[in-house]
Amino acid sequence: MISLHTSPLDQPGIGDAGGMNVYVVELSKRLAGLGIEIDVFTRATASALPAKVELMPGVTVRNVAAGPYEGLSKNELPAQLCTFARAVLRAEAIREPGYYDVIHSHYWLSGQVGLLARDRWAVPLVHTMHTMAKVKNASLAEDDVPEPPARLIGEEQVVEAADRLLANTEDEARELISLYAAQPAKVGVVNPGVDLEVFKPGDQAAARRAVGVPEDAIVLAFVGRIQPLKAPDILIKAAARMLEQDPSLRDRLVVAIIGGPSGNGMEHPESHAELARALKVDDVTRFVKPIAGAGLAEWYRAASVVCVPSYSESFGLVALEAQACGTPVVAAAVGGLTTAVSDGVTGLLVPGHDITDFADALRRIATDPVTRENMSQAAVKHARGFGWELTAEKTLAAYRTAQETMAAELAAEVTG
Ligand code: UDP
Repeated sequence: MISLHTSPLDQPGIGDAGGMNVYVVELSKRLAGLGIEIDVFTRATASALPAKVELMPGVTVRNVAAGPYEGLSKNELPAQLCTFARAVLRAEAIREPGYYDVIHSHYWLSGQVGLLARDRWAVPLVHTMHTMAKVKNASLAEDDVPEPPARLIGEEQVVEAADRLLANTEDEARELISLYAAQPAKVGVVNPGVDLEVFKPGDQAAARRAVGVPEDAIVLAFVGRIQPLKAPDILIKAAARMLEQDPSLRDRLVVAIIGGPSGNGMEHPESHAELARALKVDDVTRFVKPIAGAGLAEWYRAASVVCVPSYSESFGLVALEAQACGTPVVAAAVGGLTTAVSDGVTGLLVPGHDITDFADALRRIATDPVTRENMSQAAVKHARGFGWELTAEKTLAAYRTAQETMAAELAAEVTG
């Protein structure tokens, strides 16, 4: 696997570490369980990192030195692609030429390296986009910056040359075909999953004690990287609107913004605290640093509703994790969130980003115990359909298809 711009060893929820990190870790672990051996190549971001780290038996993270350890933004990484690619090619040459059977690249930067390795090693490249610049640019938040043309072109090159493209959802598959001219036969849909051992329902009162919120509180939570695309400001504004409409809620309301800053200087996490002050909801708003698995699951269980107001989202693991913990989700009706959330059943999908619409949807669930309970039960059931085991099985099938297709193409070239 190639995960150039973010390491599976990083804590998700801050910087460039998010759903893709979780995806690479969980997929690798489950593939290892199916007997596949995996090396994950990533760019080293600290001198102290060993060249190889065993994530679990069968999964090794290989930290590649390419460029300075710190201080490189994602937009500066294209300058390091050659050095990174050289290290990947060399790793195989030293280890054992012909060692790898399939390359699976994640995000377009890794795809560029994957293309080179594909041609050098004559093994298929399977690529997952994770996010697509054309989709993101079509629905930017007001204070966000568009993705640069170089990324768009780089993505097109990867789509054109990869042997198989794995889309998170049917919608993403259609976008690959319509926006990036992907050959339909190359595109397959593999939903991401959720770790149902970590994210599971439990006693809400106990979870609230664990995270330190009153048992009778109305808890609205945002979980994710603080950046314009993820729009935590919408939850803060919606909470303020709820209090305008019903001031009696103030004594019980808690708004939790869980995650760290991310982006290219556009994130301004401190501005969210300012926003909360300006809207007079700072007394009910808590900012929580990124937390890992079990601690995060407590927050999901403690929440009345989890809000995912993103402007675009290729899937939205947070929505799935919350539901697996029995918490309904209010999400923007964009991208993968329309697959991750069953509208009216496990939560509510809000078209557009109107604050009053979000406030109404949040209130409908958070202040009505019957609706919340019904949605909570449906949410747990819905999330159970998304185990990572299924993701791994389908991914492995895609690897096999890619190998067969490439073998057939090579045979045709020889005979032709
Ligand atoms: N996450 C986490 N700790 C945090 C905040 C987020 O571990 O404090 C994880 C979260 O559990 C999820 C991922 O980061 O698995 C975010 O994935 P998502 O698909 O929602 O968004 P992305 O980061 O891919 O845009």
